[in-house]
Amino acid sequence: MKPVISRQVILANRPIGVPQASDFSINEKVLGAPGPGELLLRTIYLSLDPYMRGRMNAVASYAPYVQTGEVMVGGTVSIVEASNSPSFSIGDFVLGHTGWQSHVLHDGTGLRKLDPRQAPISTALGVLGMPGLTAYAGLLDIGQPKQSDTVVVSAATGAVGGVVGQLARISGCRVVGIAGAKEKCSYAVEELGYHACVSHHSPDLKNQLAEACPDGVDVYFENVGGIVFDAVFDYLNVGARMTVCGMISHYNETARSPEPDRLPRIMRAILTRRLKIQGIIVFDYAHREPDFLADVSKWIRNGELRYREDIVDGLDNAVSAFQGLFTGNNFGKLLIRVSDDPTRE
Ligand code: NDP
Repeated sequence: MKPVISRQVILANRPIGVPQASDFSINEKVLGAPGPGELLLRTIYLSLDPYMRGRMNAVASYAPYVQTGEVMVGGTVSIVEASNSPSFSIGDFVLGHTGWQSHVLHDGTGLRKLDPRQAPISTALGVLGMPGLTAYAGLLDIGQPKQSDTVVVSAATGAVGGVVGQLARISGCRVVGIAGAKEKCSYAVEELGYHACVSHHSPDLKNQLAEACPDGVDVYFENVGGIVFDAVFDYLNVGARMTVCGMISHYNETARSPEPDRLPRIMRAILTRRLKIQGIIVFDYAHREPDFLADVSKWIRNGELRYREDIVDGLDNAVSAFQGLFTGNNFGKLLIRVSDDPTRE
């Protein structure tokens, strides 16, 4: 077998603020033939997700951070190009966590086979993958929406938010999205079935939210933080639930902005309005995966739930595409097509 060259995106420096191209380097690593029990994987899709920003900082969190000089971590869908494992054959598609690289030798641990006849293989990174499960568990288990509740979701057309809003609609709720661009708000209403969607770019966000939520807010699915959190918080009803899923507006902060201490006001509201605020880390919900996959696959098949992917070609464009997550440049689940997808040809 001819040696294979794996193209890898390496974390070269710890970014300060928004990650820059200079914080990464491209490495070409020559891979030998797979050893006993090993596979050679060619990456087809790499998932780009906001959590990766946290992994670039040397800060202890719920998962280890990436060391400088290492390949960036990330979820991938790959094809098996060579196999010395009885469990995998050449041509199998697998979901794994092989990072920002074109090829890898792998011992098969933790890989899940995908059947392209069941669903497009890319969906294993989005609507039928980690972001979809986050939405499912975060809304249904933590948010606990009841029929006729008003549910608000921020980053409403994104990989997580787009599923949250549709699950809330399927649960019989009034669903209000918060998104950036006008076309995202139109898409939320016209394609995803939100009852209303307001833009966080509008200086009038608070009044528009009040109009869209005449009965207040019973469930808030928080993906953003910052001014969006401030706008929603005052409208939370007595007994409202808030799922804290992400705080993307803060991920590139280099210093705390000087602001008045809001803690007493927030704590008082939690107390007097008996709010339930709970964080979610998707890893805690592996037990929900069977229900999630059964329900969401069914809703996709019967047309009740739609999804959108934003596919950027080429590993060399990964850094600029990643930056776009923080400016709202992506429209739907952001993926890098690292190499050809034979199921789409
Ligand atoms: P998205 O596909 O939603 O993309 C990110 C979106 O966030 C952008 O498109 C933009 O949407 C919005 N955004 C970015 N910066 C800002 C800002 N400063 N102010 C307002 N909106 C902003 O990403 P995901 O669906 O993958 O992730 C959404 C959130 O969920 C993130 O916070 C992420 O960290 C979190 N998450 C948490 C998980 C967990 O286990 N806790 C698992 C997966 C995701 P727009 O153009 O509409 O503003």
